[in-house]
Amino acid sequence: MIENVFSGSDVSEFRIWMGWADRYVILTHMGPDGDAIGSSLALCHYLKSKGKEAVVLVPDSAPDFLSWLPGASDIKVFADDPDASEALVYKADVLCCLDFNVVGRIGKVAASFLYSKAKKFLLDHHPYPGANYDVTLSHPEASSTSELVFHFICALGDFSLINTEIAQCIYTGIMTDTGALSYNSNNSNLFNVVASLLEKGVDKDSIYRRVYNNYSESRLRLQGFVLCDKMEVFPEMSTALITLTDKELQRFNYKKGDTEGFVNMPLQINGVLLSAFFREDKELGIIKLSFRSVGNVPCNRFSSDFFNGGGHQNAAGGEFRGTLSEAVKRFKKGLQEWSRSNEDCIKQLFVK
Ligand code: 5GP
Ligand code: MN
Repeated sequence: MIENVFSGSDVSEFRIWMGWADRYVILTHMGPDGDAIGSSLALCHYLKSKGKEAVVLVPDSAPDFLSWLPGASDIKVFADDPDASEALVYKADVLCCLDFNVVGRIGKVAASFLYSKAKKFLLDHHPYPGANYDVTLSHPEASSTSELVFHFICALGDFSLINTEIAQCIYTGIMTDTGALSYNSNNSNLFNVVASLLEKGVDKDSIYRRVYNNYSESRLRLQGFVLCDKMEVFPEMSTALITLTDKELQRFNYKKGDTEGFVNMPLQINGVLLSAFFREDKELGIIKLSFRSVGNVPCNRFSSDFFNGGGHQNAAGGEFRGTLSEAVKRFKKGLQEWSRSNEDCIKQLFVK
């Protein structure tokens, strides 16, 4: 039996909007990942099946390994046509905000979002949602926003409208946000949801292959280079750091999404509890930061304390404006500061 995380009253306002609202724009975060795209497309398909006009708008494009998802080719990319994208936002009756908590995460879409008179709806699993929404459904304990989309549709009484396409989108988001159900997924209810998605026609092994076994040769060689030459391990700090410059990325024909998962690799080392990955992004003029941790080591706190970033306890990120070596310097200084902290969760990092 699936236990719904939402009650009828949680979804009652959205249900009222659906009585009059025709145009829905679904927004998700910069650097959209499997959960961002999966949850957005699932909701988009659902709204269309209810006879609504619905479109997914992303700040920048999604990686190629998600391009097979049903409806992916209809996604609008703000960076491709800012004027048309703004017009979409202004014309919307309802803006659905998926897989992000604060508007800073939608980059250049934020301005039109803030000025829009549309109803604003947040459905998300990141802690600390912002205050810009008419309805906020925030469940940080959920595996993924995609799992929440499943519950949301069911709470609206439309389990029967979840077809294979919607189920594929939802499963992809759950899979990518849990490392194929290997973390953040100790929850029998989630497995009941997955079972139900399988019954809806999802081929989970095929989705795994399409997402994870779909690399270019140069991407796999980049992974080898990273592990051999670019991973620094600080055993006394239970920490590891990977950095990549733009030049190194170009040498391996870098394509968006190629570095996905790199930040998790050092956690395979016995004793490493905190892992960081810093990538120079010449296009955006930033250093993109990713953090992962194990157990009660709060990598989102590390990211917010030292880099003004955020995220979940075990998966966080941020942006750094400066050079890669400045970011590394701040990282090392941050580690020293943490090691002086007295809090148990942080001390765990430095217990040998
Ligand atoms: P990833 O390392 O996969 O890019 O991001 C992991 C998680 O960190 C995301 O799910 C999101 O919660 C958070 N995150 C990533 N980038 C940023 C950022 O620039 N700012 C904030 N506040 N959170 C981020
Ligand atoms: Mn997510």
